[in-house]
Amino acid sequence: MIAKPEIFEGCEIGECGCPEETYIFNGIDLVVHYEPDGTADAFMDGGDWGECQTSIEGLTRFAARLAVFSWAASMTLGPDQ
Ligand SMILES: [Zn+2]
Repeated sequence: MIAKPEIFEGCEIGECGCPEETYIFNGIDLVVHYEPDGTADAFMDGGDWGECQTSIEGLTRFAARLAVFSWAASMTLGPDQ
């Protein structure tokens, strides 16, 4: 299965000047923040579902984005799937 969000809401420049992409992933808000050093900080905020975050190093923004999507899939699908 390819992990990907159902909705891409857009890209903005965050408060610190880094690009930030917002997605809906399995019904949960997912924000990916790309630091200049190649690190992608990902935040999920699902209300009652809770919140979680991670930090992923990618060689490119594309690679970091794919890694964030697999992380988001593992968080939302649970360990059995
Ligand atoms: Zn930043």
